[in-house]
Amino acid sequence: MQHLYKLLEKKREIPIEIDDHFRLFGKEPWEVDYGEKCPVCDVRIDEYGFCSCGSSGD
Ligand SMILES: [Zn+2]
Repeated sequence: MQHLYKLLEKKREIPIEIDDHFRLFGKEPWEVDYGEKCPVCDVRIDEYGFCSCGSSGD
């Protein structure tokens, strides 16, 4: 995974340590296809990685 982090480094805005979305989905919110839903509240996760329940699936 290390090389992947390196690859994403230039556009990473959230430190990986606190990036729950990345750890949960394996990709950043801006890489999520439009229409993907939060597994918890079943609401579409928006471009900022937030959904209705605010946990992004956590
Ligand atoms: Zn949610």
